[in-house]
Amino acid sequence: MSSVINEIKGKLDIVEVVGSYIKLEKAGQNYKAKCPFHNEKTPSFFVSPGRNSFYCFGCGVKGDIFSFVEQFEGLDFMGSLKVLAERAGVKLRFDPKAKEKGDRTERLFELMDESTSIFEENLRENSEAVAYLRKRGLSDETIKEWRIGYAKDEWHDIEQKLKERGYSETEMLACGMIKKGDSGKQYDVFRARIMFPIFDGAKRVVAFSGRIFKQDESDVAKYLNSGETELFKKSEILYGFHRAKSGIRRLGFAILVEGQMDLLMCHQAGYDNAVATSGTALTFPHLSILKRLSSNLVLAYDNDSAGQRASLKAFQMALSSDFHVKALKITDGKDPADLILHDKDAWKKAVGNAKHITTIVFEDLMEQNLPQEKFVSRFRENVIPLLASLPSESERARFISEHKMAVQTGIREEYLMEEIHGWSEKNTLDSTSEPKENLGPPKVLVGDPARRLFAILFAVEGSSINGISNESLKKRLKEIVGEAFDNFYKQFNDERSRLIFEAENIYGGELKEKEIDELFLNLEEDILRQELEIKMKDLQKAEIEKNDDLVIKLLALCQKVTKRLSEIKNKINEEAKF
Ligand SMILES: [Zn+2]
Repeated sequence: MSSVINEIKGKLDIVEVVGSYIKLEKAGQNYKAKCPFHNEKTPSFFVSPGRNSFYCFGCGVKGDIFSFVEQFEGLDFMGSLKVLAERAGVKLRFDPKAKEKGDRTERLFELMDESTSIFEENLRENSEAVAYLRKRGLSDETIKEWRIGYAKDEWHDIEQKLKERGYSETEMLACGMIKKGDSGKQYDVFRARIMFPIFDGAKRVVAFSGRIFKQDESDVAKYLNSGETELFKKSEILYGFHRAKSGIRRLGFAILVEGQMDLLMCHQAGYDNAVATSGTALTFPHLSILKRLSSNLVLAYDNDSAGQRASLKAFQMALSSDFHVKALKITDGKDPADLILHDKDAWKKAVGNAKHITTIVFEDLMEQNLPQEKFVSRFRENVIPLLASLPSESERARFISEHKMAVQTGIREEYLMEEIHGWSEKNTLDSTSEPKENLGPPKVLVGDPARRLFAILFAVEGSSINGISNESLKKRLKEIVGEAFDNFYKQFNDERSRLIFEAENIYGGELKEKEIDELFLNLEEDILRQELEIKMKDLQKAEIEKNDDLVIKLLALCQKVTKRLSEIKNKINEEAKF
């Protein structure tokens, strides 16, 4: 295996590989960029062609091309190996006996791949299913490229065929291809369905979505999706992502649709930047996968009421993850697939006319001509949360005045603002009670902004960086960290020369005020988050002990901290404009 790895490394240039995912800028011998793994405005992510590696001074993430692709695309090592081998034109030569000795996961991937081939073969023999797909608008080329297949109307077809190919019952169960009934006897999960394989970022099949297509089967679910397995983590897989990666980078935005057919029709029509959630609502891990490629998102959900509810939720999540979000307004036809099939130009126009979600939702509401009372309650329900999710106060004000929201609702602007703040405070507090592990990119190391600021302080003391005075920097640091300043100073002084080197590398001798301000905001954010965590624990304790006075006091404190945190977040995001 290691010879293959070296062969791939020898053929691929790390600057080219990383540069195909993010924009790199030359910096001396090295290249730098804004880190794709943590939020920052000032680049501290470095790629060194000499050492064939990357390193981020901000969050400490580092490695080679394999670990970069792994982390960027959310793959395992074998997945990144597959992606890079293809890119380098290196054939992966697996030991033919490996299947028997077998790494379990590799065998499961193979099982899914062979199932896909079996379904493809079944489809070729079923003219009715093929006719259905063609009627829906799919070309033979699309059917082949996306490996669409058919599961026979039999109880033990795939089970039998996989058995002949040497797979065990345990493995078929683990992949969700068969299941056990009440009697303990197993049977095929997918029967009489058109099969859409769901791929991971390395183009490996990890799950299926099966669709019925005959009229007389209206009593069974239209779509049946694989359950969660060790290969298929619903919340992390976006349908079509393996083909959309380059399109998203090239076009600078992603189109998010709901269903397989929508996705396939988009790609067939040349919109190869489309992805779909498969059998689940949009999640934060989905968003963080997309975020690394682009912060611009266009939502094209179904135009029915379920689709609208789903898209409202998705918008709020995307807005609060700092995406610039627009929506498509589809008036004719119910979903994107229909529209593309019947009127490709109308679809093209809809994408071009995508508007900010807040505008779309508000205009929709206006068009409904509701009685005033109902209008206002819908406004509170649907528009206020979107306004609250906007990245800055000035943007909120802009939307309110642009759409004359105060006049339309009869609520004065300052009261509207109050309601918006009330909403976000309530919801910020709510979200702290949920565990957030593994939801985003790797966490920034605790104490990192402090480390960076002390690195700058040391460099300023040695006058190798200009742009700020030693005294004012010290003063600002003391204001924020308080008595802890001396301890920090002592602690960081131990690695003084290394820190100076880092600071010089990042800032190159001249420091901009904006960069310093951002670091101070990050530092304050860190400290406030820790404070909030402690206060929330105290609050829970006080609630259990029914100490009402303390509860009220702590609640007020928490709200104060939360408010300051959202102010900081807004300040950091102030420049972000679509
Ligand atoms: Zn980083």
